[in-house]
Formats: sequence, C-alpha cells, structure tokens
Amino acid sequence: GRRRVGSPRILKWEGEVPLPPVPNTNFASFVLNVLAQHGDKVALVDAATSKYHTFGDVCRMVPRVSSGLSAAGVSPQDAVLLLTSNHIDYPLALLATVLTGAVCVPVSPALQPEELAHVVGVSGCRWVVVHEALVGVVKATFNLLPPGSLKKMWVLGDRPGTPSLTDLVRTDLNVTADPMTTNFTLTPAEEVTSDPRRKPAVMLFSSGTTGLPKGVKLSHTNILTAIFQAKYIRSISSTPVSAGEVDVTLLVLPAYHSFGHTILFNDLTLGGCVVMMPKFTPEKYFDAIETFKVTFSPLVPHIAKFLMETPLMDKYDLSSLRAFAIGSAPLHNSTLVALKQKSGKNATQGYGLTETAATVTVNGGAVGFQFDSVGKLMPYFEGKVVDVDTGKLLGEEQEGELCLRGPSVMLGYANDPKSTAAAIDGDGWFHTGDIGYFDDQNFIFLTDRLKDLIKVKGFQVSPDELERVIREFEGVEDVAVVGVPNDRYGEAPRAWVVPAQQHPHLDVKKLQDYVAKKVAPIKQLTGGVELVNALPKNAMGKVIKKHLRNAYVNLKAKL
Ligand code: AMP
Repeated sequence: GRRRVGSPRILKWEGEVPLPPVPNTNFASFVLNVLAQHGDKVALVDAATSKYHTFGDVCRMVPRVSSGLSAAGVSPQDAVLLLTSNHIDYPLALLATVLTGAVCVPVSPALQPEELAHVVGVSGCRWVVVHEALVGVVKATFNLLPPGSLKKMWVLGDRPGTPSLTDLVRTDLNVTADPMTTNFTLTPAEEVTSDPRRKPAVMLFSSGTTGLPKGVKLSHTNILTAIFQAKYIRSISSTPVSAGEVDVTLLVLPAYHSFGHTILFNDLTLGGCVVMMPKFTPEKYFDAIETFKVTFSPLVPHIAKFLMETPLMDKYDLSSLRAFAIGSAPLHNSTLVALKQKSGKNATQGYGLTETAATVTVNGGAVGFQFDSVGKLMPYFEGKVVDVDTGKLLGEEQEGELCLRGPSVMLGYANDPKSTAAAIDGDGWFHTGDIGYFDDQNFIFLTDRLKDLIKVKGFQVSPDELERVIREFEGVEDVAVVGVPNDRYGEAPRAWVVPAQQHPHLDVKKLQDYVAKKVAPIKQLTGGVELVNALPKNAMGKVIKKHLRNAYVNLKAKL
C-alpha cells in the first residue's frame, strides 16, 4: 500500500486555458463543415484495394445519403445498427445517420446472432447498415426477434438483392448550392437535433463495471468534445507534424470501438488521411505503411508487443512513420520504451473508456513520461481518486477508485437507469471502476480493476455474459469466469466450472466448442476451463474472483 498522505485534491488539465467551449450542435453537421474546408484532398483509403474518397466526396455524399435515409423513414427517434469491419464507407454511414438526427450504433462484426439480438434489444435498432459479407448474420439475428423488427437494411459494398447505402447518393436532395460551400448547419438535422447536449448521436457497447454489454449513449456534445481535444492531444502526445502537414493514419483499430472512433473522426477533422484496414496481419500492416507513407499508427498493446518481437520490422521501409499511440488496455511501459528504441519512433500510451468518449490521459510526448503511469489528464476532464468504501476524496499516493467529470462523459446506459445511476453520481462524477492513484506531479497510475471486466487484445469481454452462456451447457451447476494474465492477449477468459452431481465427468472440450459457437472469437475460453468442487464465495454469496485469479497466478508461477 501507499501511505504517504497528501492533501486531497481534484486533478485538472494543466495546459492552455481557457479551453474553447464545445459547440452546441449536431455532430455530423459540425464535422461536415470542417471537412468541407479540406477540399479535394484524399480523406479515406481502403488499404486492400486503394479505393479512396476525397473530403469533397464525403461532403457531397453524406447529405444525400442522409436524405435518402430520412426518405426511407429513418426518424430522429430511431437507432441504426452499423455492422462492419473497417470500411471506407464507414464514416459516411455514421455521419449520414447522425445527420438525420437518429442514433448510430456501430458494433463488432464478429458478434454472433444471439449477441447481436441483445444489442438490437438494448438499442432498439430497426434499421441496419451492414457489410456485404454479413447480411446473413443480420437475417439470422432478426429471425430471433419478433417479426417486423427489421424495417430495412442497406449494404456497404455490393450484394444482389439488397440495396446499397451509396445508392442513396442518387436521392433527389434539391441541392442547388455547391455542396462544398454549403453551410451544413442549415441541414434539417439542426431542427431535429433540438438539444445536442441531451440527445444521443452514437451508442457504443461496453459492459461497464458489471453485467451484460450495455449501450453507452454518447451525445453530440460528448463526441464533439473528443474532436475538440484532438488538436491538443496530437500536439502534445507525439512528435508534431511540420507546419501545414497532416497525418496519414493507419486505422487497424476497429472504428466501432471508442478508441478507433475517436482516432477516425479526429484525423478527418484535422484534415488528415485515414487508411482503413479491416484486419491486422503483419505483412499487410507493414505493406500499408510503406505504400501509403503512413505517419501515425495507433495500436492496442498486444500489437505493440508483437511489433517488438517480429523481425519483420527491419524488412520494411518505415521512414514515413513518426509515432505510435497505444491504448485500450494495460501496457507494460517497458514495452513502450522498447518499442521506441527499436523503431526509433515516438510512442505514447493513452487511457480512456467508452463511457468517457474522449481520451482521459496520455503518457509520453510533451506531457512528460513517468514509468508505468497512464499519464496526465487531458483537456475537458477533471479527475479525482476516492476511497472505495467511504467515497472520501483522496490525495497523492493514496489508492482508490478513479472518477472523471467533463463534457465527454456519457449520458448514460440505454434503458438501464439503475446501471446509469451506479456509474454517474449526483455531482456528475463518472466512476470508472479502475483503481489507482496519482503522484506529486499529477501523473496517474492504474493498479487494479474494481469492475468485473476482461480485456482480451484490448477488447472488452463481459464475464457475466460468458457465465450466462456456460450455465446453459448441460451439467453445469455453477461457474465463474475471470480474466487471467496471458502473454499473447494481455488477458484471457478462464472458466471455473462446478459440474452438477449427475455430471461429474463434464466434457471440457465439448463445453469449449459450445461456447465457441455462441460467442465472438474474442470471447472464447482461451484461458482454459478448470473443474472445481466449489467456488470461493463471500458472505453475500458472491464469487470472490480475486481468489480465483490469484490462485491461478500463483500456480503458474510455480510451474
Ligand atoms: P473500453 O471502454 O473498452 O475502452 O475499456 C475501458 C477500460 O479499459 C478502462 O476502464 C481500463 O480498465 C482499461 N484501459 C483502457 N486503457 C488502458 C490503459 N492505457 N491502461 C490500463 N487500462 C486501460
């Protein structure tokens, strides 16, 4: 424990103040107005095919697609599911949806029909935009739901029999003005988005501190805050690009996750070019850096670790690259330091949550670097550490729960007032479920997780969701799923299973296969399955997961 008592204090952004106020406007119309300033430069490139959209293309297409969606019946009360791997039409789909006033709900393309049915149930999506290869999954999903739940679906790409999203570009919009000089704040979106501070624009999924994946409602203002942070973060967190230059960013992070979403829209509004890569494979990653002269590579820790280990790095010309930014899961700072040394590039690490939309802290670059810290607080945030039991405000070096406040903190979880009230207190402080402390220079350190969440390769896995799936397998009496340390994935889900009395020889392999069929690949039981007679429980009957994790770690250490 850390005992040096300092006076309790609230942390703030330490840089340039006052910060510009985040405008009270529709996210999509704001972004389009900014994009229109970047003319006919290339905005988006498909890493595989080199197909591209210029900023002009985006500005011309989005309002038309948006009108097409409205004409089809998408209303500001609606939610539109967006199901795809990274695709150059992804930002079009998101912006067009948000411009109608409806909520865009991007989710992982790896989800299985039952998982998707949960997402649809929570978000109320009745409209779908889907990658051409995933139409079957959408059909299977809606087959699980009451007839009529799906109003209409559009594909990204080409699929006979299903209309394509970009066909909506042909919608008659009565555009008389040149779309590049049109003021997009004059679009109908303004009227339908009456209160951008209270109206959700995007819903991303997170399981929060406990339970099943929840729809994190992010308002227009929430996600605009991330854009307003962007110029600060880019200027402090990595070697600044020369004046007048912008980044070419390789987006291998999925755009449906908060980190990828933020990078994508930040880079576009900064006038940079984003190279969309649907899936990380080492050769394609390095190829893309060479081909597109990539300057900026945001990554999750397990890919950073891979880069450290692969001999491939020396085989490619990476001279265009200036910086890595790593985030989304715990990262050993020795990896960060080693990556910097090996590559000769700048590298920073960042911490954030879906619920905070924007980046919470950055370590490295102009902020300074503290070993094993997640860094200092970024603009638009206040932070504090409170005692887990009493809620008392703590000072330097005192460990407790990290809480955050600011204009990017989510509105709440969709249709879940109880979880929302548990997450955001009456004074607007969001309780992260992360345990840590800050030092005398206000560097923040994360030491543990209060919440029941597993991070596999930087992606969320909800133990509760896996436990529910496993409980349905015949012969399972009780189960607890815990994240255990894993060299390849960071953490891996491991199940402790109590077999029912009639099934003492429960077939572990069959159980694993069963789980594999029900959930996305990321959620499989790669940490193994252990049969036990009983689970350690506290007086309330709650499984003490820490005991299971510690027992596993101790056992591994002895092997
Ligand atoms: P997500 O909502 O998927 O972004 O997950 C947020 C959670 O991921 C945080 O509450 C942390 O537990 C974890 N996390 C994100 N970034 C970091 C980081 N740099 N270091 C440690 N944990 C992190």
